[in-house]
Amino acid sequence: MSSNPSKITAIVGAQWGDEGKGKVTDFFAGESDYVVRFHGGNNAGHTVIVNGNTFKLHLIPSGVVYGIPTSIIGNGVVVDPGALLNEIAYVKEKGIEPKLLVSDRAHVIMPYHIALDGALSGHQGELAAGSTNRGIAPVYADKMFRNGIRMVDLLEPDVFREKLEKGYTFAKGLIEKSLGQILKITIDEIFDTYVNYGEKLKAYICDTSVELYNAHKAGKTILFEGAQGISLDVDHGIYPYTTSSNTAAGHISTGTGVSFRDINRIIGVVKAYLSRVGESPLPSEIHGNEASSLREKGSEYGTTTGRPRRVGWLDLVQVRQAVRVNGLTEIALTKLDVLNGFNELPVCVAYDVDGDHITEMPASLTQYRKAKPIYKTLPGWGDLPENIWDRGYNELPKTLKNYIDFIEREVVCPVKIVSVGPQRHETIIR
Ligand code: GDP
Repeated sequence: MSSNPSKITAIVGAQWGDEGKGKVTDFFAGESDYVVRFHGGNNAGHTVIVNGNTFKLHLIPSGVVYGIPTSIIGNGVVVDPGALLNEIAYVKEKGIEPKLLVSDRAHVIMPYHIALDGALSGHQGELAAGSTNRGIAPVYADKMFRNGIRMVDLLEPDVFREKLEKGYTFAKGLIEKSLGQILKITIDEIFDTYVNYGEKLKAYICDTSVELYNAHKAGKTILFEGAQGISLDVDHGIYPYTTSSNTAAGHISTGTGVSFRDINRIIGVVKAYLSRVGESPLPSEIHGNEASSLREKGSEYGTTTGRPRRVGWLDLVQVRQAVRVNGLTEIALTKLDVLNGFNELPVCVAYDVDGDHITEMPASLTQYRKAKPIYKTLPGWGDLPENIWDRGYNELPKTLKNYIDFIEREVVCPVKIVSVGPQRHETIIR
């Protein structure tokens, strides 16, 4: 393969998701030949605004809205075919014929996965991660049980039936015998519906790993679009308060079949403060007026539910891990404008756990529950000068540059993209 380092770029979340990956992706997607998702399912969400047209996407990579890039759903993604068909119809209604390819190896979310998600939610009590009830955890579990159904199977009714018998029986047993609920849908109903989905999606299903290999060899530009963030990674996050997939850049290889040796530029998106949807301890969480002010200014309310998000100060213990585990080559620091007007800005640099000074994310839930933030408080910058994005980095207030320098030193990674507003032009590239 060619080794042009700038041709493959990955964008990943460095916190709890909602860092502003959509805006950063927007910068690169329009000029990419391919935009690729490598993990998760329709539990993710991006809002992309192009020429005043707003797109809310859950499964199809956001590159689709530009018309030019080919969107790829890699094998590491889990696909609800009904949801995918709806999203294809949604994009078409907005006047775009999606250039879309779906990996033949991607696992399929079945109705019994969604039923299992619902049945499991009562079972997890305090350790519940806050499922979106879209069947994501059960479909990944079935993949590992070797009960899974892949996109290619929908095109081969005999093999599909064989696998469905196995998967359906197993899920029905779990739902009815272990969890005491009833699975109403029959195997025949599922079979007919899903064979039909297969027929409708046939034109999109192929070996996307080979497609990407050939594209890279031909010098095409490829963008990998991460969903959620590092603390939600099922291996490196705050388990079990995580999502069910690997959000880390390392999973791009296994989730798409593109070698990790070819991925040279990895951008971690860091929001200048924290927000969190769902449960888990959150050491630098804040409450009261400061929290309300941050929440209001940052519009930190759930996109679909409208529920207020938990908010807190920037946690560099978390970002330090994101830099290390993802191998970040740079940081895109977003929503700095939301911090305008604070006189002082505490930044969490370490945790105090029973008197011990901890600088790396602990695996131990006991330690994480006890973790008290150790803050370094930096001076704020008041309001930003008007049209600061036109004036360049050097014109930023000194205290803001200090804030950025401090982050770079603490986590040992350069901040190359500075975002000071939701719009595309409200960005400073260093
Ligand atoms: P994702 O989950 O990481 O993809 O998060 P989104 O891209 O959906 O971003 C969350 C919200 O933050 C969106 O409404 C963006 O428009 C907004 N946003 C992104 N960057 C900035 C910024 O620098 N300042 C402000 N005020 N809003 C931003």
